[in-house]
Amino acid sequence: MVELLAKVKENTDSALAEIAEAADRAGRQPEDVSIMAVTKTHPAEYITAAVENGIRHIGENRISEGGRKIRQIGLDYAVFHAIGVLHRKEVRQAVRDFHCLDAVHKIEIIEEIARRNASPLILLEVNTSGESAKKGFPPDIVLLESVLGRALELELPVRGFLTIGPLGSDQIRQRKAFENLRKIRDSLEARLKVSLPELSMGMSDDFTLAVLEGSTMVRLGRRLFGSRKM
Ligand SMILES: *Cc1c(COP(=O)(O)O)cnc(C)c1O
Repeated sequence: MVELLAKVKENTDSALAEIAEAADRAGRQPEDVSIMAVTKTHPAEYITAAVENGIRHIGENRISEGGRKIRQIGLDYAVFHAIGVLHRKEVRQAVRDFHCLDAVHKIEIIEEIARRNASPLILLEVNTSGESAKKGFPPDIVLLESVLGRALELELPVRGFLTIGPLGSDQIRQRKAFENLRKIRDSLEARLKVSLPELSMGMSDDFTLAVLEGSTMVRLGRRLFGSRKM
């Protein structure tokens, strides 16, 4: 446990330094970027280790696995985000166990959240890379405008967007994907006259590029905890 804490501290500090440097290059404030610790596949002690090191946001990609850990540790211990594909039949459990649903990718999920009379914070997932293995709404302003319109009609608190950058090491392509989502966000804010402050962009291999393009939340798993066995 002491070893885990020390390792996570070292990794958090170095990630924060890289975030600060990228923010500075982009003329942004480092405080405007939060780290989310992605604790999927790891036991609940990893959540504790992240929180003890000052990380408030915790991400889990499976509703049942994450829910189990969150119930073990207590919902008020951190801000818990569901970041994986959310199926309709999981919505009931997700709104009970998580504060934020960050990967809403279908209108039927929006309808189901509203039907549950719950108001978790919501991000819409956008598939900026166009890779078929990835979920998310296509990066289409007209479509996203109608999805957001429906969510607003249902009075759901949509806070912004999440995307997973393109696979591989083409940094220009990765940066473009993040830039594209920021621009889509900016135009939707103007068109709908709403505030969509959150851009959840960037993972262990591409978070500095995401910060350069306006990310407000980087989702770090391997960077904080090392490689995953599963
Ligand atoms: C696993 C996962 C992450 C973290 O990935 P790392 O590469 O380990 O940083 C971030 N976002 C989502 C949606 C994930 O499923």
